[in-house]
Amino acid sequence: LGRKLNAAFSSLNRASIVDEKVLDTLLKDVCAALLETDVNVKLVASLRVKVKAKVKASLESGADKGKDVNRKSIVQKAIFDELVQLVDPGVEPYKPKKGQPNVMMAVGLQGNGKTTTCTKLAVYYQRRGFKSCIVCADTFRAGAFDQTRQSATKAKVAYFGSYTETDPVAIAAQGVAKFKKERFEVIIVDTSGRHKQESELFQEMIQIGEAVKPNMTVMILDASIGQAAEAQAEAFKESANFGAIIVTKMDGHAKGGGAISAVAATKTPIIFLGVGEHLHDLEKFSPQPFISKLLGLGDVQGLMEHMQDIATQNPDKQKEIAKKLEEGKLSIRDWREQIQNVMNMGPISKIASMIPGLPQEMLQGSDEEGSMRMKRMIFITDSMTAYELDSDGSPFMESGKDGKPIGLTSRVTRVARGSGTSVREVEELLCQYRMMANMAKQAGGKNGWLQAAQKMQ
Ligand code: GDP
Ligand code: MG
Repeated sequence: LGRKLNAAFSSLNRASIVDEKVLDTLLKDVCAALLETDVNVKLVASLRVKVKAKVKASLESGADKGKDVNRKSIVQKAIFDELVQLVDPGVEPYKPKKGQPNVMMAVGLQGNGKTTTCTKLAVYYQRRGFKSCIVCADTFRAGAFDQTRQSATKAKVAYFGSYTETDPVAIAAQGVAKFKKERFEVIIVDTSGRHKQESELFQEMIQIGEAVKPNMTVMILDASIGQAAEAQAEAFKESANFGAIIVTKMDGHAKGGGAISAVAATKTPIIFLGVGEHLHDLEKFSPQPFISKLLGLGDVQGLMEHMQDIATQNPDKQKEIAKKLEEGKLSIRDWREQIQNVMNMGPISKIASMIPGLPQEMLQGSDEEGSMRMKRMIFITDSMTAYELDSDGSPFMESGKDGKPIGLTSRVTRVARGSGTSVREVEELLCQYRMMANMAKQAGGKNGWLQAAQKMQ
């Protein structure tokens, strides 16, 4: 989905004039990309109508001041906002609180990834200082308790279950009572999913719910089920009244669009995405960064979270970065450090899309090709002086009388020669850095969404 949308956006950027025809083509491409990933047909149709109306209203009010550049950003913003609307039902999910038990219950059909996600969630909260545990209330699937036992042991998370008790309601009640007494803070109840939506399953979920009174019920939804997601989510909503959704298997060739439709149909927020089979393959979900990433505009928040995870080994550094972000003062050197961190973080294809300013081409081709491109960026910065690295890029810019940049200084040629690259490549890197710095500024300022997101945790 990302690549198609991204391509549509790039072609808008290349267009020299923005008229009705360009807008129609862009909208057609965007809608086709959404439909192809199984977003509900009605949702797509209404998105199209809304974007057109918004753009038309803006243009009639003269907001574009007759300029194509302004028109482009009006169109981009309208599409961005409508896509965010699709995944943002405007409902705040439950946030676990320290020093008290927070019971979460996972529901969803068998194979959707409940047990895996329960462990991931426990690890996620454990790392953030919550005493976390898992209760296995799946007595339907043979070997369910063994699966919980194995993954919980691997994750070093406390667990509860039984080989002999056959009543899932009794196990759930016992486990939650035990862990509450032991002052656990995040208690996750894993349920059986069965193969299909059947009345026994819903009956069982209702009974477990009544027994453990969860603070939050989470529907675990498999991204790959396509259009079926909507009906499945609606059926579960009716009996389990879940307050949050986690979409799993977003790493595969998943058509995530069905999940998007499920959010719209049940007016329930997505809180995490499952992006792999391993314990740490869980990404926090927020509508704006998600869409931003989808459109190739970067994901500052996701990147910062990754960086914070890494920086736990180096708390001083973490503070420094947070402060710089707040002041909107990330230097070229800071950016280079981010790129180097990313290179150490594992498969580039997974993480590069988070760095604002990195060209999308970075994501194409193999991981080796991706790291080669990143290495070239590092080569370029290696040829910069300390003064240049610590700057915001202004030494490379020649300014006119009014302070506005009018051209490049000879420093650019020097760096290109020193790094064995071209003036164009250096120029591109500076341009990408500026894009990153602007996004970071927007995100990190006093009223930026990065702060808002941190407060929510
Ligand atoms: P449950 O029946 O709902 O408890 O599902 P499980 O947790 O047993 O998961 C079913 C399968 O999906 C397992 O093979 C998991 O490894 C796999 N799985 C779960 N979440 C993800 C994910 O985010 N990505 C990928 N690739 N596989 C996942
Ligand atoms: Mg299971």
